[in-house]
Amino acid sequence: MKVSVIRDDITKQKVDAIVNAANESLLGGGGVDGAIHRAAGPELKEECKTLDGCPTGQAKVTKGYKLPADFVIHTVGPVWKGGTQNEEQLLAACYHESLKKANELRLSSVAFPNISTGVYGFPKRKAAEIALKAVKEYQEHHETNLEKLFFVCFDEENYTIYKDLLKE
Ligand code: ADP
Repeated sequence: MKVSVIRDDITKQKVDAIVNAANESLLGGGGVDGAIHRAAGPELKEECKTLDGCPTGQAKVTKGYKLPADFVIHTVGPVWKGGTQNEEQLLAACYHESLKKANELRLSSVAFPNISTGVYGFPKRKAAEIALKAVKEYQEHHETNLEKLFFVCFDEENYTIYKDLLKE
């Protein structure tokens, strides 16, 4: 699996699935969640209403509707509360559970946003380290159909952090 980092809008990605940094209601919010719902159209929310929410650290799948991506994998990142509330494990679980869903669907390409690093306040460098480690560990322990994984950074700071970490 080839892992790449790009600076772009995740709603524009032509991949099999994009991952959404949703909230537990799955009924839409701000940030990347709002952008995904706007780009997918109202049918996305209709399908989300049938899912009965999603606990933090887990993931649920819908179709992509008007998005170029076929599927949306909705995962709920932890709110950063200083690092004492299992935030690191929960963030790693988001990446793990999303990859598991992508694998179950036999997808070949997936794009991730920088989960929890917006309104949820997770320190960006720490979040990037956790994301890269979770992906690496998933690959080490699972057979996967995934050929391409993109970290789609919206802000310059995240993009710089990911580029630096991927160089190492
Ligand atoms: P969270 O509540 O998980 O922190 P946010 O949506 O507030 O979710 O932020 C998560 C990340 O998504 C942030 O790094 C933010 O810059 C990024 N982001 C916001 N809009 C988009 C978009 N259209 N495409 C990709 N990433 C985005």
